[in-house]
Amino acid sequence: MLVVRTVADLRESLRAARRAEATIGLVPTMGALHHGHEALMEQARRECDVVVISIFVNPTQFNDPTDLERYPRTEEADLAAAERNGVDIAFVPDVAEMYPSGSSIEVRLDGPLVDTLEGAHRGSDHFHGVTTVVAKLFNIAQPTHAYFGQKDAQQVLVVQALVRELNLPVEIRVVDTVREPDGLAMSSRNIHVKGDDRRRALALKAALDATQSAYDGGSRDGAALVEAGVAAMKTYDVEPEYLAVVDPVTLEPLTEVDAGALVVIAAPVGPVRLIDNAVIR
Ligand code: AMP
Repeated sequence: MLVVRTVADLRESLRAARRAEATIGLVPTMGALHHGHEALMEQARRECDVVVISIFVNPTQFNDPTDLERYPRTEEADLAAAERNGVDIAFVPDVAEMYPSGSSIEVRLDGPLVDTLEGAHRGSDHFHGVTTVVAKLFNIAQPTHAYFGQKDAQQVLVVQALVRELNLPVEIRVVDTVREPDGLAMSSRNIHVKGDDRRRALALKAALDATQSAYDGGSRDGAALVEAGVAAMKTYDVEPEYLAVVDPVTLEPLTEVDAGALVVIAAPVGPVRLIDNAVIR
């Protein structure tokens, strides 16, 4: 596996593949890699001739400076994990390489997809940071395929809209959420969830299960499903920042729920804010 730290070196190392019209799969990450990231790398490895992972803790998508400061950075282990998963090239730029003139450019999507849910609670600047860095990474690596996790369902919709609106020639591939054996969605931030908070963190998955059970029991009312989810979280002594049953494409709240609806949750647990989601079956 090749480790490159500059845009020029990444371009150079992809030149032959591009000339050969090989498929190039990009897996954008912020490092602190876990099995969720590995699922993305595995799928990219199965589907593409060349697999590139980017490892970059993108400051422009952090709304909370403390969150940025304590975001785990584990480069050595990350590179080992990437190598184990058959990645060809790891792109590990520093902030100056990605933003040579500070943050003087922004690629921003506006509208309900970025204003609601995560955008409403973290601020839509979070998604402006995401679209900016993803647009830059797509320009830098020019992948034919890019891999994102369903764990960040709203991010997937935002990236798909970015690709559509800018006519970017890349296929977005979405990978199912990977969970711990007890159901907790894997996340780099889980490292900060300790002691009793680790048990309380199960509140999110419990709420997703409760909404599905309510649906299975015949309930089709959005508010009733939300109530079932909130009640389940309460037994873990966790209160959601938001818990909503929404349209899987527009993210608008649903009053009448059908299979395919998306249940999305964010909740503070101890020192971190966790998110999770599931599709009603
Ligand atoms: P991050 O490093 O947190 O920015 O995540 C990089 C990519 O990995 C994003 O597309 C995430 O949605 C995805 N990802 C994070 N956690 C998981 C998970 N538990 N299962 C599947 N994909 C994930």
